[in-house]
Amino acid sequence: MAVGRFAPSPTGQLHLGNLRTAVVAWLFARSARSRFLLRVEDLDPSTQNGDHQHGQLTDLANLGVEWDGDIEHQSDRFDLYHHCLERLVEQGQTYECFCSRREVRDAAIAAHGPTSHYPGTCRDLTSAQHADHRRAGRPAAIRFRGDDHPIGFDDRIAGPSSTLIDDVVLRRNDGTPAYNLAVVADDADQGIEEVVRGDDLLPSTPAQIAVGRALGFTDRAYAHVPLAYGPSGDRLAKRDGAVTLDDLEALGVSAETVTRQILESIFGPEAPRNLSEAASAFSPDDIEWAPWNLTAHQVAAIDRR
Ligand code: GLU
Repeated sequence: MAVGRFAPSPTGQLHLGNLRTAVVAWLFARSARSRFLLRVEDLDPSTQNGDHQHGQLTDLANLGVEWDGDIEHQSDRFDLYHHCLERLVEQGQTYECFCSRREVRDAAIAAHGPTSHYPGTCRDLTSAQHADHRRAGRPAAIRFRGDDHPIGFDDRIAGPSSTLIDDVVLRRNDGTPAYNLAVVADDADQGIEEVVRGDDLLPSTPAQIAVGRALGFTDRAYAHVPLAYGPSGDRLAKRDGAVTLDDLEALGVSAETVTRQILESIFGPEAPRNLSEAASAFSPDDIEWAPWNLTAHQVAAIDRR
């Protein structure tokens, strides 16, 4: 029994890849008879108008992905994030960063480091340098101070890994709590034991584990689901064609058909025909996990079987 969750950001309609990840997260929880929670990740003010939220929840319900209890919204939970951040600041596990996005990118390229990692420009600023930045009116973000010990974990889909962590942003320079803090605080606060999500988030996981440990939380289990790719070979996107339930419905393709296609992408051609059968049959170690490569035909109009 491991409490699970799905945590969409309401930035647009869910596409087939997002829906597949939701189904997999649901299968992990339900096959173990666990609770499954939904959290709306609306930290960004532009996502707080409710525009896409309703559609996302309706689409999940239409596929049969149901959840337990009330839906949490990150926009209601800023006190929790501030409290967690304060603890990390008091423990000396943070530092202020005055870099713009562009500076971060340019410095990472110059250092020949992994371009997605912060190159550490503001890690050890002197108090005079701090004062200069402040005088120049530069707002500071707050970053996590990682150390030189790699963080290892054994992902239930991607397998074992051990990597040095990035000094992730915990509070953005506009004062908003950042995703890498909020997700850790929420998963611990909501009692989530198993995080099942898209494998685009695999690189952020070691830092999230480190932030959680610094806050005294126990580690969660992780399963990172391979993403869906469009006919061009790139990660599936709206421009690939009929990729949302609404698009497909307009072409006469029902939610049941989409559910079956998603189940086939997980279980292969002999897939269970509906979610409840799938929950009984699901055993994550028996699945051959692979990206879902959608053909031009599928996104033009998914097979109507
Ligand atoms: N809100 C994130 C997204 O929609 C998912 C975060 C998570 O599952 O940790 O990509």
